[in-house]
Amino acid sequence: MRSDLVNRKDTFSTQAPEIMEITYNWAQPLSYDLNPNMIVYHHTVKTDLTPQRIDELHKERGWSGVGYHFYIRKDGTIYRGRPENAIGSHAQGVNARAFGISLEGNFNNEYLTMQQKDSLIALSKYLMNKYNITDLKRHKDVRNTECPGVNFPFEEIKAELNV
Ligand SMILES: [Zn+2]
Repeated sequence: MRSDLVNRKDTFSTQAPEIMEITYNWAQPLSYDLNPNMIVYHHTVKTDLTPQRIDELHKERGWSGVGYHFYIRKDGTIYRGRPENAIGSHAQGVNARAFGISLEGNFNNEYLTMQQKDSLIALSKYLMNKYNITDLKRHKDVRNTECPGVNFPFEEIKAELNV
């Protein structure tokens, strides 16, 4: 079987995709009462950010640390940000009920890599099944922002996830 077909099949699995765990030192205690019914998609704008660097940048904003729950690099690697039961800092107004997933890149002038798209779909599918989530949003759908950029393939991703 062609390897791309094997990967395609994995994309639709409801099993957890591989997530790289990072140990963060939270500047302030997190609130562990996330009640998720939404996923919000973001882009980082800057490239070449490690998850540790995002954590530093978000601490510089006065936050506890990395505000996203997940960060997907251009090579498709998924990194853990905040724990799945912790409220994030990524979309003011919906943080108490939304997972935040950020993708490396500026999708106003770049495109997701195939690996990023596959990881995003696999991660979304996993979270949607685990938490019974059907509400997918771009950051721009809940706040006045360009995030995650005009090239973010939202319709394609929703179609892949049957929403
Ligand atoms: Zn955003």
